This record gives sequence, C-alpha cells and structure tokens, in this order.
Amino acid sequence: MKQILIDLSHPIRNGMPLFPGTPALQISQLNDLKENGFREKQITLTTHVGTHLDAPAHILEDGKFLDRLPLSQFYGRALALNVQAFKGKTIPPQIFDSIVDPESLDFILFHTNYAKLWGSEEYWKDFPTLSPEAAGRIIKMNLKGIGFDVATVDPMDSSEYLIHKKILSAGLIIIENLTNLDKILNQRFILSVFPLNIHEADGFPVRAVAMVENR
Ligand SMILES: [Zn+2]
Repeated sequence: MKQILIDLSHPIRNGMPLFPGTPALQISQLNDLKENGFREKQITLTTHVGTHLDAPAHILEDGKFLDRLPLSQFYGRALALNVQAFKGKTIPPQIFDSIVDPESLDFILFHTNYAKLWGSEEYWKDFPTLSPEAAGRIIKMNLKGIGFDVATVDPMDSSEYLIHKKILSAGLIIIENLTNLDKILNQRFILSVFPLNIHEADGFPVRAVAMVENR
C-alpha cells in the first residue's frame, strides 16, 4: 500500500490573484549569492492570500487565533464533494445525504471547479456558496473544518459574513482558494493544512496536501 500526495495549494508568487482590495504581495531579493555570499528573500504578504486558513478570530470578537488551536485541528480524514452544479446558487443541505458514515469525517471540501478560473475575472463571480441550512448541517457534524476552491464562503458582496460566522463560531476552520479537488473526488483521504505558528494569526497561507492510499 502506497501513499500518493496531491498538492491542493496555489503557488505564492508576485502577480498572483488577490482578493479585490488586498495590498500587493511582494517577494523581493534581499541578499544574493554574488554580493552577499548567500541568498535570502523578503516577503510581504497579508494573512488571507492564496490557499489559506481562516481562524475563528478572523470574524469573531472572541474567536481563537490560529496559534491557539491544537495541531490536531489541521489534520484529519476528509472527503471532497462535487458542487459544480450550484454555480450562481446556494448549496442545499441535501448534498450531505449521500455521505456514508459522516461521523468518521474531520473535513469536507467542496469542489466548485472554480480553481480552473484562478487568475481570471470570473474567479470572483457567481461561485456556489453554502445555504444557511447547509451551514447548519455542517456545524452539527463534529468536523474540524471545511474547504472550498473559491475565494470566500460568503457571497462576494456580503458585509454580514453570515456563513463565516456560523462555521467559525462552531469552532471549525475554513480553507479557501484550494485547487486540484477534481483529483480527489469520491474517495476518502487524509488532509494536512498546517499553518506557520504565527502569534495571533487570524489566518495564514498553507500548503494543503491530500494523502491518498493507493491500493
Ligand atoms: Zn480568508
């Protein structure tokens, strides 16, 4: 039995797509081999850039920061659901009815197929979002987190962040801007999304990885 690792993260680089209004990410050369004898880069970034986690503190007054969550919150058994059909709509709670043995899951990821639009204007428009009823089902499932291959779990024009609030106040983390979910549909896998240990991080980019057993 062999394990296959699948990268679910977008690369972090200058010029990468950023949530509208976010200051530009900057990777610059601080020291180089010829002049300084060693290579070192300086990176300026915001905490919700690229494939990243949202901590409860992102939206909630008393929510936990990433560095206050146990390591076990960032690792567990996962399943990816295909929700492409809900483009421009909300995802109904019935989507979970087909899951066999939902108690055994730590994470549910949602494949909208928007990762293929990464870098285009369409990426920020009309993606599926959770209905309040679906979010209500999720918080009863005893999960560690949920993830999407879109920029946010609320509609782009939301200022209430109702879905964020519902999910984060239940103690779950949210993973945004995932990719490659089409490669892991309809199978169980282990998800790893460890962030750096940064003091009072309200979110942070992660190298999201799916580990699939290959029999
Ligand atoms: Zn975020």
